[in-house]
Amino acid sequence: MSPASHPDFGHIETWIFDLDLTLYAPEHGIMEQVRNRIADYVEDYFKVDGERAHQIRYDYWRKYGTTLGGLMAEHGVDPHGYLDFVHDVDLSLLRPCDRLRAGIEALPGRKLIFTNADAPYARRVLTARGLDGLFEDIFDIHRMTHRPKPSMDSYHALCHQFDIDPAAALFVEDSAHNLEPAKKLGMTTIWVNHAADAESSDDRPHYVDHEIDDVAHWLVGTKE
Ligand SMILES: [Mg+2]
Repeated sequence: MSPASHPDFGHIETWIFDLDLTLYAPEHGIMEQVRNRIADYVEDYFKVDGERAHQIRYDYWRKYGTTLGGLMAEHGVDPHGYLDFVHDVDLSLLRPCDRLRAGIEALPGRKLIFTNADAPYARRVLTARGLDGLFEDIFDIHRMTHRPKPSMDSYHALCHQFDIDPAAALFVEDSAHNLEPAKKLGMTTIWVNHAADAESSDDRPHYVDHEIDDVAHWLVGTKE
């Protein structure tokens, strides 16, 4: 039974989706491109070699939630120029997905994007996946005042901005740790787990309500 008519989700009024690796699969290689662009930026900024650049990228990501967080906190980097640079990637590998579009379209209520990326890039990804016009708005890293998920501040800001009742909201994410604040607020949480078969995982974090392997499969019940 699809979520649109499933009793577990009958109370949901707001459907919130992460973007990267939630609305497309890892095998498209988009995030590898972004990570390499981030490393290129870091390499140029610090005048270091590629290996050191990836280490800095990773260390900031661990410490601040995003590499940008570290670059802003420790070096005052301008987020707009940085985000334009790192998102200048080839999205031609992404294809429109009719099943995904139909599944999201059928969900009763409002739909939002909640992403640590920026809105111009998010719009490009949505267009590439054939998902234009389905989402009321994109709550991006700038609107989070650069406090990325899983900072609780950004979840509060999202709920405040769109007058969301967390108890009637559902959040779909591939990064499990980004679901923890959502669950704390009372949202229903859906983990897109690319690493495991959704049926067989028994190490599901306590803040995950449902585990799926593919959003379109979950929404329309058939595999691509
Ligand atoms: Mg993601």
